[in-house]
Amino acid sequence: MNAWQNLTERVRELDSLAGAAAILEWDQQTYMPAKAAESRGEQTALLQKIYHERFAAPEFGAWLGELEGGELDATQKAAVRLHRRRYDRAVKLPSALVSALSVARTEGFHAWVSAKEADDYSLFAPKLQRLLDLTREQAAALGEGAAHPYDALLEDYDPGSTVADLRPMFDRLGVEIGTFLTAVDGRAHPPPFTERLDEDGQKRLSARVLRDLGFDMEGGRLDKAAHPFSTGLGVGDVRLTTRYFEDNVLSGLGSTIHECGHGMYEQGLPAALAGTGLNQAAGMGLHESQSRFWENFVGRSLPYFRYLAPRMGAIWPDRSFSPEKMYAAANRVQRSLIRVEADEATYNLHIIVRFGLELAILEGQLQAADLPGAWDEAYGRIVGITAPSARTGVLQDVHWSSGLFGYFPSYTIGNLYAASFSQKMLVDIPGFWSLVESGDFAPILAWLRRHVHQKGSTATAVDIFREVAGDRDPVADLMDHLWSRHGALYGVSRS
Ligand SMILES: [Zn+2]
Repeated sequence: MNAWQNLTERVRELDSLAGAAAILEWDQQTYMPAKAAESRGEQTALLQKIYHERFAAPEFGAWLGELEGGELDATQKAAVRLHRRRYDRAVKLPSALVSALSVARTEGFHAWVSAKEADDYSLFAPKLQRLLDLTREQAAALGEGAAHPYDALLEDYDPGSTVADLRPMFDRLGVEIGTFLTAVDGRAHPPPFTERLDEDGQKRLSARVLRDLGFDMEGGRLDKAAHPFSTGLGVGDVRLTTRYFEDNVLSGLGSTIHECGHGMYEQGLPAALAGTGLNQAAGMGLHESQSRFWENFVGRSLPYFRYLAPRMGAIWPDRSFSPEKMYAAANRVQRSLIRVEADEATYNLHIIVRFGLELAILEGQLQAADLPGAWDEAYGRIVGITAPSARTGVLQDVHWSSGLFGYFPSYTIGNLYAASFSQKMLVDIPGFWSLVESGDFAPILAWLRRHVHQKGSTATAVDIFREVAGDRDPVADLMDHLWSRHGALYGVSRS
């Protein structure tokens, strides 16, 4: 079929363009000299423009139309469905709105950096207001027929997720975590793990753990970055980044494991489907479920620290490491202000706050001027604390300044998916915890490959999750995990 050949050839080109843009972005965040910022901005913008022109082109729509009227096999059907959704979104947005958004994002980001530095929200408010107006316009243009305007934004990050599904789930999770935190409040915290360990040794430890978990170093690499991230640049090239703190080995190692989870998902995507667009992750929430599963469920467990302690002893032979102490330190629970530093339980409350505010913004109930007040009110009510400054409150995250509305829920969707995957794995994989303790992670990775990675985007994330988890309740699974691990450490149980 001619249209199919044309389509897959174009998709391969688009994948190459996206890969090239991703290398530039990776370089920008790792090795690029500061003076290159402007020329790099031009290079990236040009690639994005070419990408958009070649994707949103009339012939692309014509190929889709032709294919939709013909006989298709299952792969072709899934690919056409995927590209139709993306194509319609790309052509629905007026080009004036696309350029206005792009300018507003750049200006918003710079204003946010200055405002955060000066701890002065008023420096950011006018640019944020512009972003809110344009985002509402964008949602209106994309969300024709949607039950909630926010659904149109979720589509970019978690295709298949809707406000109607997320709101009751997040509400219930918020209440249950609140009950859990109330039980833990006032209990003594385990001491933090602050052993000073040199960066060189930490690097070797990270490399060792990556290799043991199953990350393929022939098809990827690990570098340092101020804000760890990972990115797939194409088949056989997955870049991870991490950071090291001499007095907090668990923080840097946690970043390494988190990014490794993302990276192993990218490495496990179905390479045979290259050119169809289906060899990509099914959504940000599912991506995050992979990183959170390894970082939290495995990487903060006692069997994992029993695996880790002798490997640490091999790197620092004159020191001794207690798995129990590291385990306790890694599972401290405390109401706190900063999302990225939050523990496994409280983290979700930070997301629930942002989700509620974003819904109100899209419903037109909140303007930029209202946000600091609404932020403090929501933190008091949901997290139980109030930020002493804008910097530690409404200005803490980069997302809104870059026009990323609809992104935050992915983090908690990831935690919820990971919770049910974990419980299902305990049933499916005999001796799960002995495997972890002995450092034999292969059967665990194989399970993820089979049930998640190899599906690529042949189905939506929601469908992939349901196919694996059946009718498991992810909120109940996450709460069971928190009560049994963290509850036991703090000596509390469900009443
Ligand atoms: Zn992540």
